[in-house]
Amino acid sequence: MIPIAYPVIEKEEKLLVEEVLNSRMLASGKYVETFERDFAKYSGAKFAIATTNGTTALHAALLMCGVKRGDKVVTTPFSFIATSNSILFCGAKPVFADIDPQTFNISAESLEKVLKKEKNVKAVIIVHLYGLTCDMDAILKLKKKYKFKLIEDACQAHGAQYKGKKAGSFGDAAAFSFYATKNMMTGEGGIVLTNDAKADKYARQIINHGRDGHSTFTVLGYNYRLTNLAAAIGIAQLGKLEKWILKRTENAQKYNNAFKELDFIKTPFVPENSRHVFHQYTVRVKAGERNKFMNYLKENGVGCGIYYDTVLYRQPYYKKLGYKAGLCPQAEKAAKEAVSLPVHPSLSDSDTDKIIKVIKGYKK
Ligand SMILES: *Cc1c(COP(=O)(O)O)cnc(C)c1O
Repeated sequence: MIPIAYPVIEKEEKLLVEEVLNSRMLASGKYVETFERDFAKYSGAKFAIATTNGTTALHAALLMCGVKRGDKVVTTPFSFIATSNSILFCGAKPVFADIDPQTFNISAESLEKVLKKEKNVKAVIIVHLYGLTCDMDAILKLKKKYKFKLIEDACQAHGAQYKGKKAGSFGDAAAFSFYATKNMMTGEGGIVLTNDAKADKYARQIINHGRDGHSTFTVLGYNYRLTNLAAAIGIAQLGKLEKWILKRTENAQKYNNAFKELDFIKTPFVPENSRHVFHQYTVRVKAGERNKFMNYLKENGVGCGIYYDTVLYRQPYYKKLGYKAGLCPQAEKAAKEAVSLPVHPSLSDSDTDKIIKVIKGYKK
């Protein structure tokens, strides 16, 4: 089976991890500091704070933006559950805006409707889904008009660009994940970016038990620190990220060309001025056809996945909170139609050829 994801581990990762092991500095230290500096520089943000994972990065980002109990935070329901769970961690209320069916990302139009209706929205979490940046001009215009804190969930968008500017450099704070299957990984890991020196200082307290100086704890904090061991993997991975993005883009282009004439598949839309980094290559098939299509792929040795088959507010825990079906019709439709195909940089030419051949051989 050609896997949907495959973490690349080469000599660079092994050498740096061995260095850390030999140094006996396994927890915090200079590898974390180097990784933070490198990732901030790469992403075009002033400050980076490494965390245990993307979920804790999101939690820290919300706290940095001052999100408190009872606040409203708007987000997309077509994402991984951690996006909206992090809002609940703060005691705040997730409010959902629908997606743009073309890009799968939050729709600025739907976001404005929600902002008009809900007074006092404290923050908005946008998600650059599958590696495609959101409609940033429109969203930044809304930020100016409605004065909310903007958080980017860039957990799938390392290196993605909008008009030449990188994901993670637009908002008051941004969260990235380095989970094993992301475009770059540290096993488990995450990072928060910000351009605000005060937010950076506060984030360092949040992720380190609230510590201010040596043994004073002035805010409620957590232990969300990344380890030197994980950071060592991240330093090596970041050095290869651009090469991997090019390979993902090449694979995606090859699929686009091959699937152009197929009427049962809708290929991903990439707006002008956007650099999609293809964390996922996600197509749409008719809702009633998806099971059959995916079974056919798997029977023929092609791994595939659904991201995501349920909108967040229809997950059992959220149902209990009172959210109703029908809230975001475009997201609910996408959840029935989306299928992701392998696009990762470890695919060989014969892998992508096989995937194309299998899909072209599909009979409705
Ligand atoms: C992976 C992911 C997260 C969570 O990251 P973890 O490192 O797994 O905690 C959050 N949001 C999105 C969109 C993700 O893809």
